[in-house]
Formats: sequence, C-alpha cells, structure tokens
Amino acid sequence: MSASAVPARLTDGPRLWADLMTMAGIGALPAGGCCRLSLTDEDRQARDLFAGWCREAGCTVRVDAFGNMFATRPGRAAGAGHVLVGSHLDTQPHGGRFDGVLGVLAGLETVRALNAAGIETERPVTVVNWTNEEGVRFQPGLTGSAGFVGALTAGDEAAITAADGARFFEDLHRTGYAGSAALQIPVAGYYELHIEQGPVLEQAGIAVGVVEGVQGVRWLAVTLTGEDRHAGTTPAGERRDAFMAAARLALDMRTAAALLSPDLRITFGRVTVEPNSTNTVPGRATLAIDLRHSQTALLDRMEGEIRAAVAGLAGSEGVGGTVARLMDVAPVHFDARMQAIIASAAERLGIRTLRLPSGAMHDASNLATVAPAAMIFVPSRGGISHNESEWTEPQHVTEGCEVLAQAVLHHALQPAGPW
Ligand SMILES: [Zn+2]
Repeated sequence: MSASAVPARLTDGPRLWADLMTMAGIGALPAGGCCRLSLTDEDRQARDLFAGWCREAGCTVRVDAFGNMFATRPGRAAGAGHVLVGSHLDTQPHGGRFDGVLGVLAGLETVRALNAAGIETERPVTVVNWTNEEGVRFQPGLTGSAGFVGALTAGDEAAITAADGARFFEDLHRTGYAGSAALQIPVAGYYELHIEQGPVLEQAGIAVGVVEGVQGVRWLAVTLTGEDRHAGTTPAGERRDAFMAAARLALDMRTAAALLSPDLRITFGRVTVEPNSTNTVPGRATLAIDLRHSQTALLDRMEGEIRAAVAGLAGSEGVGGTVARLMDVAPVHFDARMQAIIASAAERLGIRTLRLPSGAMHDASNLATVAPAAMIFVPSRGGISHNESEWTEPQHVTEGCEVLAQAVLHHALQPAGPW
C-alpha cells in the first residue's frame, strides 16, 4: 500500500485506553496507581499479558539476554533495519498507570492498527519492552536498554546491584525472561511515546510534544571553609561564616542561572553546615549542586560562574572554597529527521505540537547512542508522575498514539537501506 492510501486516522484510542486500564490491574494500588517492580511476579504477569496480546496481533515475540522483549511485525524487505517502538512496563513503588506503559501499549496499538488497515511496510515494526527502566530494585536503571546498546555486558552480575539482595540475571531466569545473547535487532529508528512528567504541555494547552533531546546533568560539590566562633561574642566584622557564604552563593547563582538561560535548572539539594550547633558560627559548609540544561556549553558557563563566585567569597565573606565535579552526563540530541517526521505527522492530523527537552532520562537516551531516536510527549496532569495520582487525559493518549503510529508508519514505509 502506498502512503497516499493510508487512512487519515489509524489507531483506536478507546482500545488502547482499555489495554492501559487492564494492565493497571496488575500490581494495582489502593489510590489508583501501580507497583510493578522489575522482575517481580507482578512484572512477570505484565510481561505475560503483553506477550499474549502481541502474539494475538500476529507478532513474533523474542527476548534478549537482558530480558528485553521484542514483538516483531515483519516487513517486505528481508534484513532491513527495524522501526523500533516502545518503552517500559515496570513502575516505581507508588507508580502510576502511564509512565512507560503508555509507550509499550501504544506500540502494540500501532501494530494492531497496521493490521486492521491491511498495510504492509518495507521495514519490520518491532514493539519493545525494556527491562528495569525505573531502577528501583536494580541499579543502575535503564538496565535493559543499556544492555541492548552495549553499555552493560550480558551476565555481568556485579555491574547491576540490588538493595534487597536480588540478582538481576537470576531473576530473569526465575521469571522466565532470560533470553538469547545471540538475538540481534538492527535498528533503523527508535520511537518512544511517554508522558511528559512535567507541566509544560498542560500549561501550554498542547496535546503533543516533540522532544528535542534529554537535558545534560552535572553535579558539583562545593566546600566552603570559614572559622568556628562563639555566636554571642564574635562581632559581625570578625565572622567567617560558612553558612552565610553558602546562602550568598545560592542566591547569586540562582540569579546568574536565570540570566544565562530560563531553561537552566540549578538546585542546591543537599547542604550541610558544621558543627551544626545553634550557638556556634559555622566554620564549614558543604553543598551539592545539580545543574541541568540541554546544551553542554551552557553547563560549562554555569560551572564557570559557580567557580568564580566561590573564589569571590574569600573577599566578600572571608570564606575559602573548593569546587569538584562529581558527575557529568552529556545532553542527548534526538534525530532531527525523526523529529520532523513526528511534527509533520501531527500537522497532517491537525494536532498542535510544541518542541521541548526532556527533564528526565529515558531508554531513548541509551538508544540515541547507537541509532536515530526520538520521543513524543503527552501532558501529565499537574506535571505529576512517580505518584499514584499520575494522569493523562484519554484524548491526549489518543492523540499521542495516533501521531506515534503515523510517524512509525512513515518511517517503516521508507525503502530499506541506509537511513
Ligand atoms: Zn518512564
């Protein structure tokens, strides 16, 4: 079938919504949320249900060494790269009904819609459920997608830790999802539909977000050193108060960040003062700073501002300081052509879109290191997720899934070959 013969709307929103609510019954919590921690019995039930639905839709379901599930609808071109679409079925301990699940079941709905319309694609379309995205039982999170892209090695039990003493690869066996290390899925492009988990789309009144990338994250540790002194006897001019220096630094850096970019996020999330005694001027303060932006250059400039400000505290507050970089995760930039496919699919459907970065990490961050990748966001009520009250309106689920399906179809109709 040519692209011009494709129906204006492919997917069945109410069918997807019914699947979401059925899936939400597994690990259901009293306030409407879900608890399906990775590789628990609840996760196994969710996987079994998903696999059954995929087989009913005519897909071949295969599992790799990290327990990632791939449900494939074949294309015409043998050996062509797959259009991969999915997300994760595991949840937080007090998780919602949409985080991750939406992307997996919207992928399945895309396959069902292609079946219903009798559309044959050039490339295979494969729906994926990544293992342990949330990182609750096993750390690090995004485990399955990290394994898929080669950032983790199959069988390396030591690289994956669990607070409850569980073992990742043992639990894959226990749940029946230890798959083949030989499984290879060549990827032409990866699409992930996900709830925004922030307030931007809702506040803008827009149903579909075209995600430009994932913010970079940089953690800095600042240590400020003044002098412990008696609170009652030390005159103002003789104090070298590490807390006051920390307070000045925090407020000045909030202003500096706002001047550099409204999208620059700066958080002083952990602050300690010593000796932490009511009647002693604190001689030492340690601060952990979390910086986020989608451009490395802006993270560099903000770090430069912080280093200069800390050096300046010697003159203004009599307090010395050091700055150390604890973590640096580079920003991810999603594929420009795939963003354009998503945007034009929405435009054809008359759905307004907004381009925005993702504040959170996703499996698409890992996929982007080896293949073209892109994400679609739909609004989260109140910007809330990782919470039982997480909610996305049925209409937004429908719109997001339709845009996803149209984009996947467009990509899968492209003649096989280098993308
Ligand atoms: Zn998620």
